[in-house]
Amino acid sequence: MSEQNEKELEKSEILGKVLFSGSDIIKRVSELGREITGNYKGKDLLMVSILRGGVIFLSDLIKEIDLPLSIDFMSISSYGINGASTGVVRITKDLDESIEGKDVLIVEDIIDTGLTISYLLRNLRSRFPKSLEICTLLDRDIRRISDISIKYIGFKIGESYIVGYGLDYKQRFRNLKSIYELKPDMVTKDIESLKSSSSI
Ligand code: 5GP
Repeated sequence: MSEQNEKELEKSEILGKVLFSGSDIIKRVSELGREITGNYKGKDLLMVSILRGGVIFLSDLIKEIDLPLSIDFMSISSYGINGASTGVVRITKDLDESIEGKDVLIVEDIIDTGLTISYLLRNLRSRFPKSLEICTLLDRDIRRISDISIKYIGFKIGESYIVGYGLDYKQRFRNLKSIYELKPDMVTKDIESLKSSSSI
């Protein structure tokens, strides 16, 4: 989205403050790309992104990795109870390629309770990858339930629900260059019901 239109939205009822500007994000993504490049030299790197939110991050991140690599996608829907993720996940689109013997890096937009990624880790581990690690742009560890280890983290965040740079609110705002908080009073109830039927 153009800067001008993004500024207009900032004045709206829905978007709150900017948490990370487009340039903060570009800088951090490039640092992560360098770190991944350093760690995967000579390996068979396959980056797996979870549709839909993770795709914007993935597409910027792979351009910062100076190695041969391949990408694949999964789509899942998760179920929640009273706004909380349950970790009950259904795969709605599976990977196209086998991951056996590959160095798999899962690329996520945000890890919150960690229940969704725990399910994915269990599922992907059973397919015998050579290695399996996680790279998430955003880590909200204060709500973490699952004990997971995340190798690459873009930014740590607090409680507030966020949108932009792939993250949506009712499927909107994925095309914003910056990451914003939503105005809490506007949307608390909505968010709880959205999370209960997450479209990830
Ligand atoms: P978890 O199973 O870790 O609790 O849920 C992770 C998923 O919840 C993310 O992939 C994302 O779809 C959704 N999610 C959690 N927090 C937020 C948020 O602040 N904003 C948006 N747009 N989605 C979120």
